[in-house]
Amino acid sequence: MTQKQVAPSQTTVISRPPIVAVLGHVDHGKTTLLDTIRKSNMTAGEAGGITQHIGAYQIKIKNQKSPPKADRPLTEKIKNEDEKSITFIDTPGHEAFAKMRSRGVAAADIAILVVAANDGVMPQTLEAISHIKKAQIPYIVAANKIDLPEANIDKLKQQLAKAEVLVEGYGGDVVLMPISAKTGKGVPELLDMILLISEMKGLTGDPKGVFAGVVIEAKLDKKRGRLASVIVKNGTLTISQTIYAESIPAKVKALISDLGQSVTEATLSQPVEIMGWEAMPQIGAGVYAESQIAKQVETSKFQPKPFALPPVTDTKTLKLILKADVAGSLEAIKENLGPNIELVALGTGEITESDILLAKSTGAAIIGFNVKPHHKLLQLAQTEKVRLKTYAVIYQLLDEIKEVEAILNQPQAQEEELGQATIMAEFTADEARVAGCRVTKGVVSRGDLVKILRKSEEIGRTRVRSMRFGKTDVAKTEVGKECGILFDKKLDFKVGDLIIAYKLHELLA
Ligand code: GDP
Repeated sequence: MTQKQVAPSQTTVISRPPIVAVLGHVDHGKTTLLDTIRKSNMTAGEAGGITQHIGAYQIKIKNQKSPPKADRPLTEKIKNEDEKSITFIDTPGHEAFAKMRSRGVAAADIAILVVAANDGVMPQTLEAISHIKKAQIPYIVAANKIDLPEANIDKLKQQLAKAEVLVEGYGGDVVLMPISAKTGKGVPELLDMILLISEMKGLTGDPKGVFAGVVIEAKLDKKRGRLASVIVKNGTLTISQTIYAESIPAKVKALISDLGQSVTEATLSQPVEIMGWEAMPQIGAGVYAESQIAKQVETSKFQPKPFALPPVTDTKTLKLILKADVAGSLEAIKENLGPNIELVALGTGEITESDILLAKSTGAAIIGFNVKPHHKLLQLAQTEKVRLKTYAVIYQLLDEIKEVEAILNQPQAQEEELGQATIMAEFTADEARVAGCRVTKGVVSRGDLVKILRKSEEIGRTRVRSMRFGKTDVAKTEVGKECGILFDKKLDFKVGDLIIAYKLHELLA
């Protein structure tokens, strides 16, 4: 989600709190730092209560000395100069952190790289640096555990310089803050620095603008169903609004704040847990108001299909064709693939036409590392409906594959067929393509999830937005009857295609 998508409307653009991700090697103190910040910021009442882990929390800093003002062309006012907020993405445990690391950074405005000053730069510190640089966001190095006698800040600065993180005094301008997450020393200064960087960056949003957010956590709750935590990047999210995480809809049933309270709305940079999803959204997915969907589909028309989600199938493996620039990278990737990955083919060199044809015939996705497919090849992949994605950072490649694997391990959704219809004609109404259909089985209703098949091959999934008989809107159409169907998403349907309406039942673990 970029600022570009956030319509800079005329009057209501204001500065918004920074969203901060904490990265670093395991055991270097990320969790302790996040806990210390959260606890030190709680009011007496909250400290006694139960806070909720929803994947992020927001703190408020009162009576802050106002940091020096930077040029903020878009900012018209700051809500309350005496109270500033910061949102922290709060990823528990190292495993979960590794899973969403790259996406966590993508959701964040500022990163904190935690490095224990006794251990120094470790392998996951390097990974974290690579993610932060890729995300091109400002960051602060928190040199942690300075309460320990072995802490050696000078040595750490030298190690960081080797890793191309040039701190002040070492030829660069990356800020390094010595802290002890355990005792709290240096933590208020770290928070000040976050606010200063945020001020300089001039982060803004429009609470009255079109809603946009990002999924930071998703889970299945036995009582409350599917839950996804979202951080609001623009606009205001309210109960009963319909939103989409990529293509997964939710009619917002309940919103839970990071304090575990039920709230009626959430606005700029606020994290909130959302109830009401029709399938499980993916961590890192962009979330949009309904009106944004058509736009998104349009702009992605000539881009290769996103790799992210494999279709729900009864097999729990993901088939891949792997191409890399050199044998060394190929080996490194191969070694790190989990048991749910089936390698259909692998090799060095560019992705070729025959790779695409092989992918099509085997149902595999193509993954390229440090290779640049030609535009024509991407078009061929698009036409053949082959998922193709290339990467330049190995950790990102592995992280994304691990995410897909995690999804494969989740309880699968079961489809229950509700009805079938055949597309008999096509016409245009209000500039949208409408499918003229005859229902051949069961009932098709407004709001149903549908998949469209051509000669038994699936060409896409969406939802029935509205249905008409003649000029009258109808809620459902039964077997033998005809209707015009308008879909939620632009799909390249043709006369003769079969529409299957279904609903999803998720098997609780
Ligand atoms: P994470 O894996 O990066 O989240 O690390 P944790 O926050 O779980 O910390 C790992 C260990 O380091 C724990 O035993 C913490 O108590 C300890 N630790 C974290 N911060 C500090 C610190 O500032 N000083 C000292 N002495 N220990 C710390």
